[in-house]
Amino acid sequence: MIRTATKRVIEPVSRKAWRKNVRQYHVLAIESSCDDSSVALIDRQPDRVSLIDHQTESLDSATVGGIIPSDAKTHHQGHIGPIVQRMLEKHGNIKPSLVCATRGPGMMGSLSAGFNLAKGLALAWNVPLVGVHHMVGHLLTPRFFSNGQSPQFPFVSLLASGGHTMLVLSTSVVDHHVLANTVDIAVGDMLDKCGREIGIRGNMIGKEMEALVKNHDREALLRERPQDWKLPNPLQNQHGRIDMCAFSFAAFISATKKILQSIDNNLTDHQQLVLAAEIQRAIFHHLVSKVGLSLRMAAQDGRISLDKPLDFVCSGGVASNGVLRSMLQEALPDNLVYHFPEPRWCTDNALMIGWAGIELWENHGLHTDFPALSRAKWPIDELLTADCWLQS
Ligand code: AMP
Ligand code: ZN
Repeated sequence: MIRTATKRVIEPVSRKAWRKNVRQYHVLAIESSCDDSSVALIDRQPDRVSLIDHQTESLDSATVGGIIPSDAKTHHQGHIGPIVQRMLEKHGNIKPSLVCATRGPGMMGSLSAGFNLAKGLALAWNVPLVGVHHMVGHLLTPRFFSNGQSPQFPFVSLLASGGHTMLVLSTSVVDHHVLANTVDIAVGDMLDKCGREIGIRGNMIGKEMEALVKNHDREALLRERPQDWKLPNPLQNQHGRIDMCAFSFAAFISATKKILQSIDNNLTDHQQLVLAAEIQRAIFHHLVSKVGLSLRMAAQDGRISLDKPLDFVCSGGVASNGVLRSMLQEALPDNLVYHFPEPRWCTDNALMIGWAGIELWENHGLHTDFPALSRAKWPIDELLTADCWLQS
């Protein structure tokens, strides 16, 4: 058994070496990094994987203008245990042989509520615990639906959610390299802020904004927009920023506020629609253009090849947006092979945590020691340098 300290001492081993971990078993998975209490029960067979059950209870933040961390923690403390209990009872009190839970990154109180319950269950059942990296869960999601066959490594992922905006090159289950990251806030957070500013309400304002614009002719709405309603494309206007492989969203909220001030905050329903279309266009245009740039730069220095098919995963809540999906397909190189998980598996869920745990356990024999603490910050390219990994 190998224990890891702060530097990476576990080297990835071949999938074949850990095939002994592939057999029939059940997996319980818990996700609680933000405001969704999610639990999954997974049936693992040697030649297939299937979801037995999945349940989510989300914190209702619609009236408070954003997620309050202490409310999210209390929500998880009150909900995850009962969801697990009901699910196990519903399925004949199955005793899982592997427990997976999000260890980080995320909100500390939220993470701890789920991770500590997972620790207790794994201890009581005397089974391995896998503390999963939330973003690794997002990017491995499509592999669940192909039993680990597709996409094959290496592949690139755009992770666009309420907490993260990253372009990641994955060369194995445990090796992830950030090609571009946000320098300020996440794309979903900005969609939510701008949407709230123009009067859209709900728990997932980005999603409500898509629904609002969906039944209208988007191009026609954009043609109606006055010249001074055009939102900026950040990191373009100064020398050294045009070629910067990074995203920046902070400018969109001040620009939106400026537009509202210019009309004395009197927005008609129709103007709200026009502005919503413009917010989506501008934010996604920035995202897509920086993804394109980062792919070209990575190809130039030999980290990826764009001359042959390259798998491209889009995951995270924002990645379920249809406008974004079509803008990516229109603007990015033709050789990309897209993997768009169903919207319900793009937003936070426990299926992805269960599957990532299965991949870590089966392909690398990795599991987590019980002194492990939740990690509010956990860079995706430092997966194995975290403490408390065990390999057996
Ligand atoms: P996540 O952090 O992955 O759970 O995703 C939540 C974020 O995704 C929130 O900022 C939502 O507003 C955003 N989101 C969810 N669905 C959509 C959608 N269809 N279009 C745009 N943003 C979305
Ligand atoms: Zn997420």
